[in-house]
Amino acid sequence: MFRVLVIEDDDELRSMLCTLLESQSYRVSEAATGQRGILEARSYRPDLALIDLGLPDMDGTTVVREIRSFAPLPILVLTARTMEADKVKALDAGADDYVTKPFSTSELLARIRAALRRATRVGNALPVIALGTVALDLSGRTACGPAGPIHLTPLEYRLVECLARSAGMIVTQKQLLKEVWGPERANDSRGLRSYIKFLRQKLEPDPSRPRFILTEAGVGYRLQLDDTVGSEAVR
Ligand code: CA
Repeated sequence: MFRVLVIEDDDELRSMLCTLLESQSYRVSEAATGQRGILEARSYRPDLALIDLGLPDMDGTTVVREIRSFAPLPILVLTARTMEADKVKALDAGADDYVTKPFSTSELLARIRAALRRATRVGNALPVIALGTVALDLSGRTACGPAGPIHLTPLEYRLVECLARSAGMIVTQKQLLKEVWGPERANDSRGLRSYIKFLRQKLEPDPSRPRFILTEAGVGYRLQLDDTVGSEAVR
């Protein structure tokens, strides 16, 4: 049973979140302030923290940074802000993903499952993933679609692999560029965009309307797998 810590000052929303999480068999601990939340994170040792960025006593990003400094757990931030800069700031501080208010409960639960799945995955075994009718074997580096094998370049494999390791979660442009191209290319977001386009052309059923390789404007990309497929594929 996973333990989730909810740090949110809005009483109504916090109580809704706790009820929702308990209904999904999570054990829940709650805090209405950043200070209290940091204490709870130390004593309750949650498996995941859900942190509102707009807290009364301190900036949510500071809470993320503090908790990250002593616990390796996945952190999801809740933000009412559409400002991309705030999301990037929270991710840079150590958050793993964000959910923008208002959110659907199914979206929130899917993000929580994705974060826990990545955190609890054993070893470095790479999954076989299904993007609609395309099967992508990341260990064997093969891809097969309805019309037969699909050729991906080594760089394209590295890129899709980096997204797949965090399937369902945001991966920032900076993270992708650093991991796939190396630190010296960390600002080449134009190059990244071209390669995302190549991947979509090869893997998406309709590259102009991506279903799997999604853009999070101004922040990065998210590989969205069907939840059941994802949990079956990641062993
Ligand atoms: Ca708030």
